Amino acid sequence: MTDIRTTLHRTTLELTASGSPSARLDAEVLLMRYLRTDRLQLLLHPDRELSGDQSAGFATWVERRRRGEPVAYILGEKEFWSLPFEVNHDVLIPRPETECLVEEVLKCCGGPEGHLRIIDIGTGSGAIAIALATELPGARVLATDVSPGALEVARRNAMRHGVAGRMEFIEGDLFASAAGEFVLIVSNPPYIPDEVYPLLPSGIRDFEPRRALVAGPAGADFHRRIIREGLGRLVKGGRIFLEIGEGQAELVEALFAESGSYEEIRFRKDYAGLDRVASARRKRET
Ligand code: SAH
Repeated sequence: MTDIRTTLHRTTLELTASGSPSARLDAEVLLMRYLRTDRLQLLLHPDRELSGDQSAGFATWVERRRRGEPVAYILGEKEFWSLPFEVNHDVLIPRPETECLVEEVLKCCGGPEGHLRIIDIGTGSGAIAIALATELPGARVLATDVSPGALEVARRNAMRHGVAGRMEFIEGDLFASAAGEFVLIVSNPPYIPDEVYPLLPSGIRDFEPRRALVAGPAGADFHRRIIREGLGRLVKGGRIFLEIGEGQAELVEALFAESGSYEEIRFRKDYAGLDRVASARRKRET
């Protein structure tokens, strides 16, 4: 039998040795979730003993983390927009900077009156689509993805957060399976340039879906297509919001400008000071 203090100490050493930059925190989060308790209880009762079964079960979690698997996949959950989202290996783990996109959408289109028709392209876990559905009670949100596994996760997340009745989940390439026009197009599409992918940390490369990440030579293949094809799918005066990667603002600005049909092309920085969200409005007269 080992107690919580010893387990945390040993786990922290093991995770540090495997190169984790947040070993102590990872150890606490994993153990607290494994024992289904909270962090305070863990720290207040360091002498609580783990049974042999508990120690053995927890060791399998620690081993997964030692091999570089992100904590969110081990827990099967990640928080986004203060809501818990189920995640598995079919979906990208939602990132905190993606909350900037949700904030931008709400800034321009918040308010209870709007009966907005929104499409979220490449919904993954459903993070963006579901956050918007919870904040905009008048909105109907269509979520698309090419990954059937991702759509299943997104559907379960929508049920869990009570918004499934105003959402639809469709498998297909970008807009291909989605009918009609939208007031808002939102997307956090894949945006890693082909050449950068091999340089990503192994925790990402080995565990997150490749097709959620990689997007052509400049990483802007999806932005280009969404900006072009989106024109035929946006109502006049409707807006597009796209998450972008480091250094992609100029290219994405040029893509909007080239088309001649967008105005109010804007960028919003994330908390690290990087341009993270591009947005534009379809001109009313086009
Ligand atoms: N919106 C989620 C997931 C982003 S990852 C989030 O912000 O966390 C990008 C998603 O795009 C992945 O789920 C991937 O399966 C999906 N995707 C890749 N190619 C696609 C395509 N051609 N059409 C629609 N979705 C696509």
